[in-house]
Amino acid sequence: MNKNDQLFTRAKLAIPGGVNSPVRAFKAVGGTPRFITRGDGAYFWDAEDQRYIDYIGSWGPMILGHRHPAVHAAVLSAAEQGLSFGAPTEREIELAEEIIKLVPSIEMVRLVSSGTEAGMSAIRLARGATGRSKIIKFEGCYHGHADALLVKAGSGLATFGNPTSAGVPPEVVQHTLVLPFNDVEALEAAFKEHGDEVACLMMEPIAGNMNFVRASVPFVKRCRELCTAHGALLAFDEVMCGFRVALGSAQSLYAKEIPGFEPDMTVMGKVIGGGMPLAAFGGKREVMSHLAPLGAVYQAGTLSGNPVATACGLATLKEIQKDGFFTQLNQRTQQLVSGMTAAAKDAGIPFCGDSEGGMFGFFFFPELPQNYAKVMTTDGAVFNRFFHGMLDQGVYFAPALFEAGFVSAAHTAQDIDDTIAAAKRTFATL
Ligand SMILES: *Cc1c(COP(=O)(O)O)cnc(C)c1O
Repeated sequence: MNKNDQLFTRAKLAIPGGVNSPVRAFKAVGGTPRFITRGDGAYFWDAEDQRYIDYIGSWGPMILGHRHPAVHAAVLSAAEQGLSFGAPTEREIELAEEIIKLVPSIEMVRLVSSGTEAGMSAIRLARGATGRSKIIKFEGCYHGHADALLVKAGSGLATFGNPTSAGVPPEVVQHTLVLPFNDVEALEAAFKEHGDEVACLMMEPIAGNMNFVRASVPFVKRCRELCTAHGALLAFDEVMCGFRVALGSAQSLYAKEIPGFEPDMTVMGKVIGGGMPLAAFGGKREVMSHLAPLGAVYQAGTLSGNPVATACGLATLKEIQKDGFFTQLNQRTQQLVSGMTAAAKDAGIPFCGDSEGGMFGFFFFPELPQNYAKVMTTDGAVFNRFFHGMLDQGVYFAPALFEAGFVSAAHTAQDIDDTIAAAKRTFATL
């Protein structure tokens, strides 16, 4: 048994499934998860001291790669001054101001500790602000593991959902309407029937939890129009896309296509914490003013706005504002996707991919899927062979086919070329 196997055996006795978040367990792809001992730049090393080019970046936060010098200095210096006070600090204002400056739709923001908490709180706020109960979400979009959001579509076009997890009573999801992604007709039907009862529509603008599926521009436009017409709030869940696909986040990309476009609320996480537990939700001042202590919607957190986490987030946001940061990141990520696509084509394997900023996805399909039902038809066995082929060559992609991948600013052109070369060898074996 190698050291990863030994650690996994030990972990399984003390921690359910051996992991603290299910996808880490390699259940979908089989085999033993690697136990990571350290990271540096675009790489991390496992317990056997095997090096991997890291394309999950802690599932999104590590946009600068591991151990970025400026981020580390900021974290260490903050830690020197104390770990947590439970009283306000100036750094919380600085981070809030930075987010407000970069994302114009956000006029006020509340900091929390995880994306789940941010999404859950945003929904409570939307319900409190509108006095309505119903929410709309889309199949294949993930908004964290709050009870009301662990729901899949029932049968039929516009139905209230069924829980996707044991432990979620059906009554808790009875107000959650689940619709197919990118389906304008289903959206219109749902608003026609329930529009005036909808507190908010929450969506991932680029769905990264069904690999990588963009909301089409006409779809986003219609979401905006229908929310406005019915007095529902449009909430963009940018926990993954925020500060990852563009400096202004995914909403800035849609604003280029739809004049004046803005969501009413935005949920953030991952990159804004730079690798520390930090997330946020924000939006229009009018909506945010319903939050306690100003308003009647309760929300709180012992570690919210933690001084070390905010230092990490601030240092990360400073770096990504440097000249040409996203141009370069975009290029690197495109180089990866186009190189892998060309290699697959040479090998006669149906393959396609897409990317935006430092986020990408690829499918063993001839063309990009538009919704979850299509994504679900992927051949999992082929993906799993590909995943392990790459892992054996020191390339770590997400160990599940429904997950987006991430390139960091630390990935060099050489890292990308090495990855494409490994993909070529792997495709030849499929
Ligand atoms: C990761 C993610 C979440 C949940 O964030 P956690 O910090 O894992 O709780 C919510 N929404 C989206 C879009 C995410 O990618």
